Amino acid sequence: MPPAPVPSIAFKGVGQVFTTGDGRPVRALEDLSFSTAQHEFVSVLGPSGCGKSTLLRLLSGLIAPTEGVIEINGDPVHGPRDEIGIVFQKPTLLPWLTIAQNVTFPKKHKFGVVTREDRTRAEALLELVGLKDFADRRPDELSGGMQQRAAIARALLLDPEILLMDEPFSALDALTRDEMSFELLRIWAERPKTVLFITHSIPEALLLSDRLIVMTGRPGSVREEIPLPFPRPRSMATLSDPRFNELAAHIRHALFSQPVA
Ligand code: ADP
Ligand code: MG
Repeated sequence: MPPAPVPSIAFKGVGQVFTTGDGRPVRALEDLSFSTAQHEFVSVLGPSGCGKSTLLRLLSGLIAPTEGVIEINGDPVHGPRDEIGIVFQKPTLLPWLTIAQNVTFPKKHKFGVVTREDRTRAEALLELVGLKDFADRRPDELSGGMQQRAAIARALLLDPEILLMDEPFSALDALTRDEMSFELLRIWAERPKTVLFITHSIPEALLLSDRLIVMTGRPGSVREEIPLPFPRPRSMATLSDPRFNELAAHIRHALFSQPVA
């Protein structure tokens, strides 16, 4: 038998205890274990405060776990890694830079220089996310959805193998949010990556993902893993698949039949 492929991301028995300002311990994660395959799109759903952002901060090497191990391509994470691009809930663009300069900023920040190739790459990424004509604008001239597109382009600049997204569309209005979901699927199809996508939205998770991780309330661990049966490419038709509503009801039940932190 051939050896099992190395997971893109693996959490192995990860626990995280924080200490609050007044010295009390807060257990955010407990014995969290799951893994993702290369180029798999995995969404994480869980009640507020169950440790979703914490698991992304651990994976991106910003903090170290108090228990367990996190691996990327089989290597333990000990600090920030180049394989990862991150998109947060807020676009966090620098207001004094143009959109193009914001997209090349990770290069500037890491290497101190932006080359002609970087600028060409940023142009291509801006085209990919539908912002070709906005390269020279400042962030405050763009709508929230457009700013988030720019943040996605920025996260892709260094061509990460892994894209982490922490409720990236939750600050957008409902229509823009749906549009961005389909945009993200198109971008992912053009630039395959492992995606770990955190969301509060059950329909969004169902529409986007290959697999869902449903977490327990705090301390967060995996309550259920759900592989999704919907064929790709996903479309509006996915939303009317009878299994879509069945799974949504199942997940809603799983999320609400537990104490919320
Ligand atoms: P989620 O993203 O699922 O809403 P978080 O990962 O942000 O949850 O937080 C999980 C728990 O850990 C929360 O109770 C939060 O208050 C606590 N927490 C997160 N970061 C810290 C920190 N740096 N210090 C103390 N507690 C923290
Ligand atoms: Mg969070």
